Amino acid sequence: MDNGTDRPRRIGLLGGTFDPIHYGHLRLAESLSAIFNFDELLFIPTYSPPHKEFETVTSAYHRYTMTVLATLQMERASVSTVEIFAPERPFTADTIDTMRRDYGPDADIFFLMGADSFVSLPKWERYRVLLDSCHIIAMTRPKYEVADLTTLAAQYGAGRVVDLREGKASPHAVSANLDTGMHVFLTDLFALDVSATDIRQAVSEGRSIARFVPPLVERYIHTYKLYTK
Ligand code: ATP
Repeated sequence: MDNGTDRPRRIGLLGGTFDPIHYGHLRLAESLSAIFNFDELLFIPTYSPPHKEFETVTSAYHRYTMTVLATLQMERASVSTVEIFAPERPFTADTIDTMRRDYGPDADIFFLMGADSFVSLPKWERYRVLLDSCHIIAMTRPKYEVADLTTLAAQYGAGRVVDLREGKASPHAVSANLDTGMHVFLTDLFALDVSATDIRQAVSEGRSIARFVPPLVERYIHTYKLYTK
């Protein structure tokens, strides 16, 4: 193994529109990294988000740049262009295939998502393939409380569901549960009550967004006049 341990490499993937990236995404990535010990963490801006096709989404170039600015100092993190530069506009299941080819059959690949994304998973193209080809980590999110994530995971036909909520999340609990097959991990680590929609709204109304995004992202938004009406 090239991570200095005898375990397979752990790759965390956080896909999103990132329009713009905000402290909610960064907190999600940081708190899950601390528990899951990713060797690499990739932020993957989507080309055009599958569930938001009727809304106007900011150019991928701006979203990519803001994501780079926000994550440059985060250890082991980088931003992937696998989706935004792909002419065929891949679905998440295709992206996981690409990652599997890049990182090899032994790597533990984890796809991170907020509970709102987990709830809408059946709308994702080939979502069952996704569940079979990587681990999923679903994190609860303020204002998106869902009744029963465990039941939902079972309905999706997920392999093994590992509930790490209510104080059960620890590096040991993760390692102890990484046996064969793909798992869905449920977590309730501290999340921030912020969404990109709120931020776009705040900018368009001239309100401060300093609490929601890193200073360089705030500056970028103002310099390039994003989200003004
Ligand atoms: P929008 O408001 O435009 O829908 P968003 O803030 O939900 O955007 P996305 O880029 O769509 O951001 O989110 C990417 C991923 O990050 C999704 O899986 C989403 O559930 C998760 N996420 C976003 N914000 C938070 C948050 N505050 N806490 C936990 N997870 C979050």
